[in-house]
Amino acid sequence: MNKLTKSVWHQMTTEQSLQALQTSVDGLSSQEAAMRLAHYGSNSLPEPARRSVLTRFLLQFHNILIYVLLGSAAITATLGHVADTLVIIAVVLINATIGFFQEGKAEKAMDAIRRMLALKASVMRDKGRHRVSAEALVPGDIVLLEAGDKVPADLRLLDVRGLQVQEAILTGESMPVEKQTHPVGQDEALGDRTSMVYSGTLVTRGQGRGVVVATGANSEIGRMSGLLSGVEVLTTPLTRQMNLFARWLSLLILLVAGLLLVFGTLAERLAFADLFMAVVGLSVAAIPEGLPAVLTITLAVGVQAMARRNAIVRRLPAIETLGAVSVICTDKTGTLTRNEMMVATVVTGSAEYSLQGVGYAPDGDLLCDGHVIDDSMPAALEELGRVAVLCNDASLHECEGVWSVEGDPMEGALMAFSGKIGLEPRTLRAAWTRTDIIPFDAEHRFMATLNHDHRNHALVAVKGAPERLLSMCGSQRTADGNSAPLDQAYWQVQAEKIAAKGMRVLALAIKPVAPEHFILEFSDVEQGLIMIGLVGLIDPPRVEAIAAIGECLRAGIRVKMITGDHKGTAAAIGRQIGLQNSDRVLTGIELDGMDDLTLAAAAMSTDIFARTSPEHKLRLVMALQSQGMTVAMTGDGVNDAPALKRADVGIAMGRRGSEAAKEASELVLADDNFASLTAAVRKGRTVYDNIKKVISWTLPTSTGEAMTIIVALLFGMTLPVTPIQILWINLITAVSLGVALAFEPTEPGTMRRPPRPRSEPLLSGDLAWHTVFVSALFVAGVFGMYANAIDKGYSVELARTIALNTLAVMEIFHLFFIRNFYGTSLTWQAVRGTRVVWATVIIVTCAQFAITYLPPLQALFATVALPPIDGLNILGVGIALLLIIETEKQIRLRWRDRGG
Ligand code: ADP
Ligand code: MG
Repeated sequence: MNKLTKSVWHQMTTEQSLQALQTSVDGLSSQEAAMRLAHYGSNSLPEPARRSVLTRFLLQFHNILIYVLLGSAAITATLGHVADTLVIIAVVLINATIGFFQEGKAEKAMDAIRRMLALKASVMRDKGRHRVSAEALVPGDIVLLEAGDKVPADLRLLDVRGLQVQEAILTGESMPVEKQTHPVGQDEALGDRTSMVYSGTLVTRGQGRGVVVATGANSEIGRMSGLLSGVEVLTTPLTRQMNLFARWLSLLILLVAGLLLVFGTLAERLAFADLFMAVVGLSVAAIPEGLPAVLTITLAVGVQAMARRNAIVRRLPAIETLGAVSVICTDKTGTLTRNEMMVATVVTGSAEYSLQGVGYAPDGDLLCDGHVIDDSMPAALEELGRVAVLCNDASLHECEGVWSVEGDPMEGALMAFSGKIGLEPRTLRAAWTRTDIIPFDAEHRFMATLNHDHRNHALVAVKGAPERLLSMCGSQRTADGNSAPLDQAYWQVQAEKIAAKGMRVLALAIKPVAPEHFILEFSDVEQGLIMIGLVGLIDPPRVEAIAAIGECLRAGIRVKMITGDHKGTAAAIGRQIGLQNSDRVLTGIELDGMDDLTLAAAAMSTDIFARTSPEHKLRLVMALQSQGMTVAMTGDGVNDAPALKRADVGIAMGRRGSEAAKEASELVLADDNFASLTAAVRKGRTVYDNIKKVISWTLPTSTGEAMTIIVALLFGMTLPVTPIQILWINLITAVSLGVALAFEPTEPGTMRRPPRPRSEPLLSGDLAWHTVFVSALFVAGVFGMYANAIDKGYSVELARTIALNTLAVMEIFHLFFIRNFYGTSLTWQAVRGTRVVWATVIIVTCAQFAITYLPPLQALFATVALPPIDGLNILGVGIALLLIIETEKQIRLRWRDRGG
């Protein structure tokens, strides 16, 4: 069979293709599948070619600073300054090595995330339906598809029900294509081979089943080389902006350095070689070369932290946007509630029952007016159970006494219910063969199946939202099994009653049809149904969602619930989980009647939207955005994709969500839980803060260092720190202290601040002021300590050693200041810091001791051992710096709080 070329499958009949692949409609056995997997290899596309380790290492040298340094090394070498040349080359190498490892770590983090989003497929193996990893598919496997799925391999279709597939990824055509099972002509183009579906395309509607004909690199998409080779790079608008900023700043600094060189040469106060080294030192000090790398690390650390909290970032910019979210629009079922359903109430035309039991176990008592019904089940109840089983795709499994659902939890609850009234689903499903189906869709809110038994009866079983079904019914079942005219008012009151308790309400109806009837159309169910009864399903709220909503509200983030459920159910659940104004509920029909302006106002003032369909979600997103809100929107179905795309942060559900929804979203919640979403927002804010901290620490530090040299050069003073010492300081601190900020935990008040406005610039006036203020203090500290040492009669070498250590100590204290942007740095908590912070502080301290006291380093850097008393003085300068900038911050914050 491997001799068959791939292009003939579409023109074969289904039987021919099954035969050619040596398989059957029941699928392969797992042994056979394992053998084929060994033969064909896994169903995955070859990894896009990576840049080799060597290229990655060499690329580290591709930046302005390195060019400057290499040029400088060449010049110092020609001038015969061997020591300087060696130090410069060491700086270059160490810089590149560190950058190389940091980048590698960030890339590994992203790889791990990508693996978490691996595709699953429903496949027939050993005559049963199983969910397997898409990578395990082999030719001959029978794969089941439904709306929202991503096709996992190339399939020859065996049967379809309204199957439509969007093949833009292959053909560029974004309109979905209707699929069918008959052979098509040999010469048809890919887009016209309607008997086939291809790996990577999306099912937009319907259901289908097909046999795998090609996997991995043999699939059509695998053969289109280069298509998927785009490796996601770790950039966001913010980092791009920062990269650009860093590049311009570098150019500016080089310009200043050049001017200084000219000025110095003209003034002739220094020998050219010394002047040149000073200018090199200045450039190295001022160019924020480490910044882009540290920002990348900050993002990668954030992505990893979110993944640990079940929030998987699909598109990196989402991290930034998450921190600015000002309204979250969320689903109800499964996100705010547990999606562990149980039928608790049943209403027929003549009676009301309540059910007991736990979980999905199909046993528990049935009560009517407080009496347990044990022997004879009322006929209407039995019929209700029958409809519930026939119009159902779920199945229950027992494993060590615990019952679980395969499929939709609500349908699982209906199966458990039918068990409680004594029905045997397996015999029922054997007696009635399903011949056609209209699958559930959030758009029409019902599901219908056509069933035939072996004695020439045909029956349509329907379940769905009560209002919807009532409009399709003409009569209802009476207690004696006959039908009577429909009592609309009765059912409406009953439905309201169930919904008011926070239960999901579902109506069930049937319609007998002629046995020749084999195709189910909308027109068949639009009228003439017989209403059998209502069921009420409880779905308890998630406890952690209640806390998470409280946290959002305190953080100034509005939470809105958008559900397809009944108004009453939505309001009751809204109250239980603590939504604001939960008495006001708008329904989809009411939204339809509003123009965009009214809708915008309503969207702002209402927190609960019920009986909505996916287009309403899209309208609501746009309405909220028009009011300047940054919108996060959750979704799971195919039809949610437009709203997810449009939202500032689209969030898909990892378990419940369709592949279509995931493709359209920025974030995937692995556990479908609202609490994870809140955690992601908190992390998003933290990451943004940390980026800001990295920048706020780096800019004043490098400006301070650079100013020290500039001031000395301009005023013709002796340099308080030699250029080569500046290189050292930069190397040590820039790569250690700054990186520590990437790992900063969330500051305590983070979720009590209002969301950051999207327009807030990162390089703000505050930052400019902080840079000026702190770098002035740096200059004062360094020159002060240097002058003081000279006054005491110390040698220039000793005075410089003191100045050098002062600079390092001030940077450390500045780091402790930056760690607490919004609070105060003068608490025990703040001083204790984190392990990463202390680790880097210890490293830097050890390095400073080494350069001060180790003879070889002393020789290289012209340092001398420091008297302990001066060491204490240096520490004092650091503490003084912290006190001054902390006082300034407190004054500024208070002043602002008072409305300044
Ligand atoms: P939610 O926003 O809570 O996820 P859905 O759009 O899934 O709401 O469901 C809306 C309504 O459609 C439900 O209240 C229920 O009446 C009906 N419904 C949901 N799932 C099914 C199903 N599988 N079959 C029939 N009706 C359903
Ligand atoms: Mg739903």
